[in-house]
Amino acid sequence: TYVVTEDCIKCKYTDCVEVCPVDCFYEGENMLVINPSECIDCGVCEPECPAEAILPDTEDGLEKWLELNTTYSAQWPNI
Ligand code: SF4
Repeated sequence: TYVVTEDCIKCKYTDCVEVCPVDCFYEGENMLVINPSECIDCGVCEPECPAEAILPDTEDGLEKWLELNTTYSAQWPNI
């Protein structure tokens, strides 16, 4: 799965949302997140993010962000 990380905070461009084929972005007050159980790992959103905030969860040190994307995508509205 891909996860949205710190650099998304207060960015909120939605270029990533427009390209996601499975509509798995969710929106909170300060940032967006991806629902890891819906993401099909296509990678299309990664280069669209102007803040470079979207990363594959295979990168080191992203455990905390994977957890936050999982938690918040269950609470926030789908966009
Ligand atoms: Fe959507 Fe693909 Fe990005 Fe996953 S990797 S959030 S499926 S665009």
